[in-house]
Amino acid sequence: MHQIPHWVNGQTLTAKESVLPVYSPADGKIIAEVSVAAEATVNQAVSAANAALSTWALTTPSQRASILFRFKTLLDEHIDELAAIVTREHGKFLMEAKGSVQRGIDVVNQVCGMPQMLSGRYLAKVSTDIDSYSLRQPVGVCLGITPFNFPAMIPLWMFPLAIACGNTFILKPSEKDPSCALKLAELAKEAGVPDGVVNVVNGDHTTVDLLLKHPGLQAVSFVGSSTVAEKIYHTAITHHKRAQTFGGAKNHAVVMPDADIKNAADVIVQAAYGSSGERCMAISVVVAVGDHTADKLVEAMQPLIQSFKVSPLITEAHRERVRDYIRSGKEEGAVLVLDQETTASLAEKPGFHLGACLFDHVKSHMKIYREEIFGPVLCVMRVNTKEEAIHLVNEHEYGNGTAIFTRDGYTANWFAANVQAGMVGINVPVPVPVAQHSFGGWKRSSFSDTSMFGPDAIHFFTKLKTVTERWMPEGVK
Ligand code: NAD
Repeated sequence: MHQIPHWVNGQTLTAKESVLPVYSPADGKIIAEVSVAAEATVNQAVSAANAALSTWALTTPSQRASILFRFKTLLDEHIDELAAIVTREHGKFLMEAKGSVQRGIDVVNQVCGMPQMLSGRYLAKVSTDIDSYSLRQPVGVCLGITPFNFPAMIPLWMFPLAIACGNTFILKPSEKDPSCALKLAELAKEAGVPDGVVNVVNGDHTTVDLLLKHPGLQAVSFVGSSTVAEKIYHTAITHHKRAQTFGGAKNHAVVMPDADIKNAADVIVQAAYGSSGERCMAISVVVAVGDHTADKLVEAMQPLIQSFKVSPLITEAHRERVRDYIRSGKEEGAVLVLDQETTASLAEKPGFHLGACLFDHVKSHMKIYREEIFGPVLCVMRVNTKEEAIHLVNEHEYGNGTAIFTRDGYTANWFAANVQAGMVGINVPVPVPVAQHSFGGWKRSSFSDTSMFGPDAIHFFTKLKTVTERWMPEGVK
């Protein structure tokens, strides 16, 4: 069986450690085993990243940007290969996989402008003979811990930006689909990133615990579920590390009576069931304003859902979890309008497939509404006014993304101004910000003051220094 190694100091590293199986979700077979880094490997990676830091931090932003530009070109050239790895280990279809790698490359493209983005402020003559300027300097060795659902995109949202700021990096990818991270590290080396600047340490929560407590790391960026995000935030802070941790989601789409229902149905179905709902920006709740809107929308969505090809889930255990939610929804009295799970002949199909389900008349006390399902299950809720709709969104514990579908500009602006969520779509179902902005949710979707990529991430991956200087002519005191 192929054993997926670590990547330390510019080369693969295999140690005598325990391993975990890596599955192909499409057929359920074990396709590889991934190493679980023990203390010796963690120490080796942290030493390599620290050894590389002093030289790398002294390179100019332009030198680093040139290397990143070569990295971006290599990513373009290898996009099909990267997408194939995503599909093999994650299960999402090739088109979606390629789209996700592209969203990662977009951030690398933006990072090539780092020499300009790192500029500080200069104030001349803040007092007599005194000038003042600020600069942003690297934080040190940074750690990225990433989830299974975007094994190329989320690492690409982290380490290129961190190293462009002059830091070195250790990436701990998800143990469920770790191969992309190694390919990215190989390409980074080919682009000219010096050994030790980007390292990949594979493993599970035991590896994360070792890394978080290590004194040789200065910052931690995490993406995953909220329970873990909260724990990692507090552990990192306790160990004197800068931390930003992003968690789960329950993204609501509010559909107003004046919306273009055909279009809303079309894009909501894509946003709910694409990548089998395993997206932190997936729409998992529709809040229809008025019974008439709800009836029309449910009617329009049904044939689209029935013909939607759903990709497999990540593991058998996760499929069981999603099935539990479907059972719970039925028990709690939600109306299961479409139950592809039992009607489709999935039983004979190998792999972790699950049919798309649609619940209507979902109420706010139900478990399928309160918790993140992370599967191909969409909940429809019915309210009478836009105020009731926004109240629902704002009361939910998650606040990652949300969307409103309407033809009325005033309602759209009112919603954007008053909704408690970090990313808002207006007639756009999955409002992932482009690379020029930053990505991050509110409430239990994020435990941080800064967001991922864009201007916010530059603040996270650099320390601010302000210099006040006084120069006088010879002989003047
Ligand atoms: P997860 O929390 O199980 O794992 C994420 C990472 O943390 C992995 O690398 C894993 O090895 C590690 N980990 C898991 N349990 C740990 C523990 N107890 N202690 C320390 N480390 C631990 O998440 P997942 O299942 O891989 O990903 C799905 C989750 O990620 C969903 O909740 C989804 O909403 C969320 N997500 C959020 C965003 C966002 O930007 N907010 C983006 C993508 C995914």
